[in-house]
Amino acid sequence: MVRRYPDRFFASCLSANTSSEKLFDLVREFRPKTAALAVEPEKIPEDVRFCQWYFGPDASAQALKASKAQDALCAVVGIAGLSSVWTALETCQRVLLANKEALVTAGQMVMARSKELQTPILPVDSEHSAIFQCLQAAGGNPVQRLILTASGGALRDWPRAKLSSATPEDVLRHPNWQMGAKITVDCATMLNKGLEEVEACHLFDIPADKIDVVVHPQSVVHSMVEFEDGAVLAQMGAPDMRGPIGYAMGYPNRLPYEARRLDFAQLGKLTFFAPDRDAFPCLRLAEEALRQGGNACVTLNGANEEAVAAFLRREISFGAIAEIVGEVLNQTPLGSIRSLEDVYAADCDARRRAQNAVRRTK
Ligand code: MG
Repeated sequence: MVRRYPDRFFASCLSANTSSEKLFDLVREFRPKTAALAVEPEKIPEDVRFCQWYFGPDASAQALKASKAQDALCAVVGIAGLSSVWTALETCQRVLLANKEALVTAGQMVMARSKELQTPILPVDSEHSAIFQCLQAAGGNPVQRLILTASGGALRDWPRAKLSSATPEDVLRHPNWQMGAKITVDCATMLNKGLEEVEACHLFDIPADKIDVVVHPQSVVHSMVEFEDGAVLAQMGAPDMRGPIGYAMGYPNRLPYEARRLDFAQLGKLTFFAPDRDAFPCLRLAEEALRQGGNACVTLNGANEEAVAAFLRREISFGAIAEIVGEVLNQTPLGSIRSLEDVYAADCDARRRAQNAVRRTK
């Protein structure tokens, strides 16, 4: 979208985790003021040394602060993105949020900080962007229910008996969306939809019992809002992340891009069915953690990040992800979260327990 609108946007800070070559290419093209890599590469090419570089686990937050950017598009995966989101709230005018784990682990604090500093958070997660778009038509009326749609992930139509032995190759073949490995695994376990329920609670200040999930294999309806009179508004479009990214970047204006237009006659029908929480127990685990509150969602997230990484390293089976997340949630005493330090302590504890479980499993 920055490439599409060079007169309107300028990438003043770019960051990546370990993909240094890809970041170097983007730096050459967009010429930011600052750039960050979580892992310092052996060598920084001569032609990208014009910008200020930052390295290390907190580099993206430091680079963002130094860039003095107006908007921050936070798309770091996992709780690793929390520090950048926090810095973005304090140093930028708007936070365009693609990272969901900041809200899953520290939702109350992040939303309170946003309010206090009057830095709006604009959702980039496609479902939440859809809900946000539908809410523009609410006219102050209360919301009865949020309905999150789920593609169901790569294993949606698999027989239950085969699910636990799915390989990373099977899981990374997402039917509709092009995304990173971690979130694509989360889509296949359906834990992603659970994280999105938590995210929606915080973003839209709505209780968990007013959020429903429905599987919608075509990913055309990106999510829906029901009002008290039973009217339901849905946001639709081709599954293309430039839609939600562009909506947040241009808000309140819509930014045209080369989107595939919906042809309803060609689509023929849109289908919906209830998620199978027995086949995909991660969804239920996330919903239980949301109901429990306190440290439960931090525990859920930390255990899942470790389990997914172990699955992608081929150390555990697909089925073991849910087992490990469930086991860690069971083992961990419920506690409260009052500060970011509490979040990081609960995250560490969950990761340690999950690593032990991985060692026992493999
Ligand atoms: Mg999403």
